[in-house]
Parts: sequence; structure tokens; C-alpha cells
Amino acid sequence: SRRGLLYGTAGVGAVSLAGCGVGESPNQLTGYTGIAMPTTTSDRWVVEGADLEARLKDLGYKTILEYGEDDIPTQIQQIQAMVDKGVEFLIVGAIGNTSLGEVLGNAKDKGVTVISYDRLILDTPDVDYYASFDNYQVGVLQAKHIIKQLGLSSDTTETYNIELFSGSLDDNNSQYFFQGGLDTLETYIYGGSVVIPSGQTEQEPTATERWDRTIARDRMAELLDTYYKDEPLHAVLSPYDGISRGIVEALVEADYEPGTADFPVVTGQDAELLSLKAIKNNTGQTETVFKDTRLLAGVAVEMVKTIVDGSTPEVNDRGTYDNGFKFIPSFLLPPVDVTVENYQEVVVDSGYVTEDAIDNAP
Ligand code: BGC
Repeated sequence: SRRGLLYGTAGVGAVSLAGCGVGESPNQLTGYTGIAMPTTTSDRWVVEGADLEARLKDLGYKTILEYGEDDIPTQIQQIQAMVDKGVEFLIVGAIGNTSLGEVLGNAKDKGVTVISYDRLILDTPDVDYYASFDNYQVGVLQAKHIIKQLGLSSDTTETYNIELFSGSLDDNNSQYFFQGGLDTLETYIYGGSVVIPSGQTEQEPTATERWDRTIARDRMAELLDTYYKDEPLHAVLSPYDGISRGIVEALVEADYEPGTADFPVVTGQDAELLSLKAIKNNTGQTETVFKDTRLLAGVAVEMVKTIVDGSTPEVNDRGTYDNGFKFIPSFLLPPVDVTVENYQEVVVDSGYVTEDAIDNAP
């Protein structure tokens, strides 16, 4: 079988072959893992690329790490080059969720195992595993923060104005974050205590292409200009720290003062240093959702290791993530809500970042 052929000589075996002085053998590249990450513009992917490499190298595997810098053709080329080089595994954080079918088809022809990393790759049969978080829960946590900060309950009689932001339309995670948030706010919207003055409650008008901060800033500025001349804005559901900081910029420009009671509640995701600094000092967003990327890297590497060892990787979900061809066997990790109350415990004490790094975030 493909499996037997492929994994019979995997990893360690190939290394020892080379070590025995057999020299360049076609098997020598066996054990290579190609890591294709989406961008270096966000802290998390930078940390994860290095972390994945280090973990694989610790196990004696070789790696190729590339960043697509948010450009789909670049990422396709990078993955093709990995396939040409003879990788046995691909760990892919996709830029465009439907753009990798052809290159993954080429990978499959060579027997490569494909792990969709954090973001689900769609419309191809050639994805083997998915390592990610409970992405719906991310949106739930963000919306719950808004509910808590505004003090919303079933007997709330005031109305609060909220605006919604979602992520890149071609990132499969965006819809999960957004739906989790929207479903959680739903009873308040139907009950009338939450109003969305722009009426923009669908994914498309609220989307932020490539998760770009300036796009979010400009949309926020426009919303403020159009709908908030005479009305206060109370909260903004934001899916990602970079977007949150763009939103805060526009708010500040419109004379909302961070740290005061009138400053809208702004959520986030990824525990980026600049956002943690804002949370700590109450100078902008008040929440982020931490996804422990160390655990995610660990899951992906464990999948590789398990397959090299000739077994089937452990998954904990087989019925959530349909990529258009099949439900992808997934390992999903829990996201964690982070505010000023628990940031130390969650991200500092756990060694994810240092207090110094937060304080000195540029
Ligand atoms: C990831 C988020 C990240 C976003 C922007 C999403 O696919 O799940 O953690 O904030 O991409 O990089």
C-alpha cells in the first residue's frame, strides 16, 4: 500500500542510512517536512514557524519553512518547491482556502501527507488531517466579553450599539469566529437591547481582506462617520488583534478616549504583544482570545511523528470540519479568553510572552 511504501523508510531510517556512509540516496530526503506559513505580519505565525521547525528537528526530521506573505501565488510556488524537493509531509497554514487544490494534488501524487494547519483547506480531497482550535468558540468568547462588559442580561432595558467585524473571506476560520459571535449576541439583538446601526450583520460587508489593520481602520472610520454622528458606539466585535488595533485607531481619531467609560468595548484574538499592552494598560481593546500555538505546533508534530512511527494520529473531532470533499479528521484545541484580570496567568506565567516584551511592545 501507499502507506507501507511511504512510511517504511521514513525519517530516522533515512538519516541512519546517510550516517552509514551510503551517501546520497533517493531516500535521503525522506522525513522532510515542508512548513508553509501564511505571513510574518502577525506574531503568531512567526512564533509557530520557528516552533514547528524546532520540534521537528528535535525529533531528527528535516524541515523547509516558508512564508507566503499573504500572497496566494507565492504560497502555491513555495509548496510546489517543497513537493519537488521530496517532502514527505506538508504542514500548511493556507492563505487562500480554495487555492491549493492543484498543488496538493501534485503532492498527493507523490504520496505526501497533508496537514491543514489552523485554517482548513477547502475543495480538495488531498487534505489528510486538520490541526486547529475550536474556532466557533473563539467568537463565543469575544461576544461573551462584550455581554459582560456592557452588563447585558435578560432584563436589560437600555439599548447598546454594536458593530461587527469579520476576518478575511477566503480564510475558512472567519465564518466560525463570526458565527460564534453572532449566535452569542443573537438573543440580545432579537430582544432589542443590542442594535447594529449599520445593519451590517453578514459576513461579506463586515469582512476584512487579509485581516488587514488599515482596511479595518478605514471601515471603522466610515461607520463612525455614517452612523455615529449623533449616537454613541458601545462595542465592536473584532476577530483579530491587528483588526482591533485598526478599529481603536479609528475610534481615537474620532475622539473616543481609551480607558474612559465611553470607550467602546473592543475584542480581539491571538494575544499579540501590542494588544496585550493595550489590555494591560487599558489603552484600547480590553480582550483577546489566546490560542496556545505551542499546543497546536505540538499537535501537528505529533501527527507527523505518529505517522512516521506507522500509526494513525489521534484526533478528537470527525464531524465539524467539512472541506467540501469530506469531514477532515481534526484535532481541535480550546481557545482561552484573556483580559486584564488573567493575562499574567495565561500568557506570562505560562511562558508564552514576558511581561517585559509586553511593556516594550513597539
Ligand atoms: C487564525 C487567527 C488569526 C487570523 C489572522 C486565522 O486563520 O486562526 O488566529 O488571527 O487568521 O492571521
